[in-house]
Amino acid sequence: MKYVGAHVSASGGVENAPVNANAIGAKAFALFTKNQRQWFSNPLTLASIKAFRQNCEKYDYKPFQILPHDSYLINLGHPEKESLEKSRASFLDEMQRCEQLGLDRLNFHPGSHLMAITEEECLTRIAESINIVLDKTKGVTAVIENTAGQGTNMGHKFEQLRFMIDKVEDKSRVGVCIDTCHAFTSGYDIKSREGYIETFRQFEKVIGLGYLKGMHLNDSKKELATRVDRHDSIGKGFLGEDIFRSLMNDPRFDNMPLILETPEESLWEQEIKSLYSLVDKK
Ligand SMILES: [Zn+2]
Ligand SMILES: [Zn+2]
Repeated sequence: MKYVGAHVSASGGVENAPVNANAIGAKAFALFTKNQRQWFSNPLTLASIKAFRQNCEKYDYKPFQILPHDSYLINLGHPEKESLEKSRASFLDEMQRCEQLGLDRLNFHPGSHLMAITEEECLTRIAESINIVLDKTKGVTAVIENTAGQGTNMGHKFEQLRFMIDKVEDKSRVGVCIDTCHAFTSGYDIKSREGYIETFRQFEKVIGLGYLKGMHLNDSKKELATRVDRHDSIGKGFLGEDIFRSLMNDPRFDNMPLILETPEESLWEQEIKSLYSLVDKK
């Protein structure tokens, strides 16, 4: 079974996210558990935590259907000590918020080397950051997202994701999220049927399906291998609809959150319906 949803607003409190998801017919959702433009926010209140759990129960969202996303400020591979410490502290806070909400995974962009350290040093630092934070938390999996490889962002090759996983001590609590737009613009030609088959064959060989904890379903405003991160609405960008048809009929992507991060919020309800309409009738 496919669980498709969107990255919905949690403004006014995390408890509003499941309400907003239900309103657009989502069977999964993503959210920020704090203001994503700030390093730290006020702790979640007990009332907010309770309401979040109640709303998830009311609208039937289980943890495996929910993919929280961390703040964009965090760089777990930062070359400078002070910024690295700040990122680690902020990421720990994000993981603890997930723990409080009863969520089982947290999606994040791995980090950037900023031309100050090598790619390998940066990836090693990110893995160390994950180890530190996993050590201080329970029950939440750190889900590394593949990136478009824009600027000095790491994680745009499956081998880089594998490199980090190899250095994480608790393999049961590390996973990956594949963003279709990022995969395409980083150089994986998932647009064609052959390219789709080959890309996920590579994924299985290099990383392994067991690590896949969610996907971001985005079309792309940029062409293959441009290494630019610009999402487009499904079917409107360079990817087109075919890849999403393949994906919606591929049992490897069952039972995990499939999240739209497409730019037109007003289209999400329709995009979710359209994606389900691509499923072949048995
Ligand atoms: Zn994404
Ligand atoms: Zn993106």
